[in-house]
Amino acid sequence: MEKKELWDKCLSEIELNISKANFTTWFKNTYIIKEDSGVIHVGVPNEFVKDWLYNKFHKLILKTLIGNDETIRGVEYSIHKHDPKNENKTDEGVVVKKAINITKELPLNDLYLNKEDNLNPKYNFNSFVVGPFNELAYAVAQAIISNPGQNYNPFFIYGGTGLGKTHIIQAIGNTIKINHPLKKIYYVSLERFTIDYINSIQNKNPNSFKEKYRKYDVIIMDDIQFISGKDKTQEELFHLFNTLYESNKQIIFSSDKHPNFIQGLEERLQSRFASGMTVQIVEPDYESRVAIIKAKFESTNCIIEPEIVSSLAESLEGNIRELEGSLNTVICQSQLKNRSLTLAEVKLLIKNNIRPKKTVAIKDIVKIVADYYGLAEEVIYEKTRRKEIVRARQVAMYLLREDFNISYPLIGQKLGDRDHTTVIHSHLKIKVDLKTDPSLLQEIEKIRIMFK
Ligand code: ADP
Ligand code: MG
Repeated sequence: MEKKELWDKCLSEIELNISKANFTTWFKNTYIIKEDSGVIHVGVPNEFVKDWLYNKFHKLILKTLIGNDETIRGVEYSIHKHDPKNENKTDEGVVVKKAINITKELPLNDLYLNKEDNLNPKYNFNSFVVGPFNELAYAVAQAIISNPGQNYNPFFIYGGTGLGKTHIIQAIGNTIKINHPLKKIYYVSLERFTIDYINSIQNKNPNSFKEKYRKYDVIIMDDIQFISGKDKTQEELFHLFNTLYESNKQIIFSSDKHPNFIQGLEERLQSRFASGMTVQIVEPDYESRVAIIKAKFESTNCIIEPEIVSSLAESLEGNIRELEGSLNTVICQSQLKNRSLTLAEVKLLIKNNIRPKKTVAIKDIVKIVADYYGLAEEVIYEKTRRKEIVRARQVAMYLLREDFNISYPLIGQKLGDRDHTTVIHSHLKIKVDLKTDPSLLQEIEKIRIMFK
């Protein structure tokens, strides 16, 4: 889209969102001067308008721009006196500005991105909940923050959508920024990286691209799964990776899949990605959901009864983004009514957000586990006490309980009519072994991937 066309389109949308008086006062004589690596520079007639747009309409403007072009990641406002249309209008604005004392302190805003490093300051570890579902990722994150580039390089974090990958990798960046102010950090989505690369080719300036990405001490690349099938980008990333890695620069990737399962990924990249620390984030368990719900309510100063917390935590399984969506509905209603909601009201409100519990055929899970260990499916159900079969059976029981929440008695009954205490014992055994046996952890992660 041309600059003018884009801005006209945005203006027509903004006009619908604010009063006519506001619109004519603040948006007339504005236009897009240029776009520079995803940042739109909006020309405004004077400083007063500039401050006003930034303080009052920044979020709306950015949102509208992104709605029309998703590659946009920031807006800046500059006074542009050279546009002939604006020339006569600067003075009165400046006068008004003197009369009103405008606060220059800009509110931290969800959409505010730092131009230098692309990080969003809303992602930090302050209200970040750590539980069994993400504690390994968190521990690695803390180690990287103390010593970027030293131990866990690259750090590859993967897991389903809405589980906190972007949050954790951005929070690493934001924290390194505070603890190591001299380090140059850059966060980029794979899509943005690809666009940058294509632009550099089109502008016949591939070296600018190479130089840009090679100057950072910490590179954070989000949603790397989108690299599948992009051969040229893979080639560039491969060389970039080697250069950064050899000079001990920290590299962090996120993906919705384990590197071995990203379709159309060159083998040499696959092995690079998995050569450092590879950690999965899974869906939060019940206790972690309780903690997330409490944290979210605390941050909005809403009061919530413990019975409502547990009820929400029970019904809102799945990913954190969906969970936040449901909580927002509850918080909004409560603010609207200006009181805490009753349990019945909350239940009614979130009825639509509850996903049906994962249904699973126990047989399918057993088959996946047996296949993984190269065993015949039947042996899992039989009474055999052969060591490798016992192990596979324990893993199957562990996963049925841990990931699918199936009751101990039912697991026992389905897996060859065993007593529920056997299942409890197996579950616990794997749980304990996992703490000391990283290869078991890897096995279980690989099996989990096959559930998807
Ligand atoms: P992903 O990148 O894996 O799709 P996000 O990082 O975007 O997921 O997380 C989704 C939402 O959940 C975000 O609003 C994020 O702030 C929130 N969130 C994720 N993990 C946590 C956590 N451990 N504690 C609190 N909030 C979290
Ligand atoms: Mg993400």
